[in-house]
Amino acid sequence: HHLHQSPGTPPEAVHVMRDPANGLEGVIVLHSTRLGPAAGGCRLWRYPDAAAAATDALRLAEGMAYKNALADLPLGGGKAVIRLPQGKFDRAALFRAFGREVERLEGRYLTAEDVGTGVADMEWVRTETAHVAGLPAAQGAVGGDPSPWTALGVLSAMEEAVRRRHGSGLAGATVAVQGLGHVGTHLCELLASVGARLVVADVDPGRAAACAARFDAQLVAPDAILDVPCDVFAPCALGGVLDERGVVRLKAEIVCGAANNVLASDADGLRLAKRGVLYCPDYVVNSGGIINVCAEHLGWSRAEVERRVGQTGERLRAVLDHAEQRSLAPHRAANALAQARIAVGYTASAQA
Ligand code: NAD
Repeated sequence: HHLHQSPGTPPEAVHVMRDPANGLEGVIVLHSTRLGPAAGGCRLWRYPDAAAAATDALRLAEGMAYKNALADLPLGGGKAVIRLPQGKFDRAALFRAFGREVERLEGRYLTAEDVGTGVADMEWVRTETAHVAGLPAAQGAVGGDPSPWTALGVLSAMEEAVRRRHGSGLAGATVAVQGLGHVGTHLCELLASVGARLVVADVDPGRAAACAARFDAQLVAPDAILDVPCDVFAPCALGGVLDERGVVRLKAEIVCGAANNVLASDADGLRLAKRGVLYCPDYVVNSGGIINVCAEHLGWSRAEVERRVGQTGERLRAVLDHAEQRSLAPHRAANALAQARIAVGYTASAQA
């Protein structure tokens, strides 16, 4: 796990889960419910001890609060972390027990999938509580796999960033995509359709080769993607890619991708700014998935999801304008704006 230096505002509540009979041990962190139910996925992961799990949950919940606030969603931020049981365990029993914990919070926490959990798990959760999203989409309804929406939002942000930097569109621009999973593949498809030139890498060689062939992209080794001279580096794998070494190696003008916690630390964001790289804050540009989750929960239409995801570039512009006006690095501008928005709450007109 990568350490992401948390901006460090304290959470509203920490709900400890302990149900040994069903293998459940973990926490639900409600970072903030000021703007709505604390929404954020449920992670099932190996942690060395309870403290490590809690630390991860605290950091992730805060990130969700900022992401949701800056996406103009009527949602607070939260996260659930469950420690992966040792050995064999009854998955249905575990997620039903988790569902009962979610239910005890009476709607203050809204859960969904995250690393290590999937749609089937959320269906177990649903047997115990209605405060869950990421369920299979009914015909024509919103819901299901959020990754195409995440990719669409990243594209919108990238267009804004390239326009800002070069005064031009993505046609002919070179984009280096790291990680060709759910979001990365959709992003490549969108980028190819607007005429961008692609350089791609994935630790899975088969996936990398297939993607390169499909989009006529240049394939590089996973370790070489940071060294590719390009207009945009799009991290779509894991977090912490831009650490002290990564920042020095990077040969991109712009960083804009789907991965959460791209910066290993606050200092790395400052280093990027000093090197003249335009960093598009991760949680500002990767909110398409949570917009879709929110729509599923609140019954918004598909057209509404399209409209909101399509505004990702405009939301990025507001953050980058704020950064310029205040001489802040973009990641710090995003944190400041999110904290201010949470402190103030939405006005009735902004929420409408
Ligand atoms: P995924 O697991 O489907 O894809 C990740 C891909 O990255 C895999 O193909 C994996 O092989 C590859 N990878 C891992 N390490 C790599 C490395 N060092 N170099 C190159 N490739 C590597 O995940 P995803 O759903 O596409 O999400 C990608 C990132 O975006 C994650 O950080 C996730 O937290 C974030 N994110 C996803 C969504 C969403 O809607 N799925 C929303 C917001 C943020």
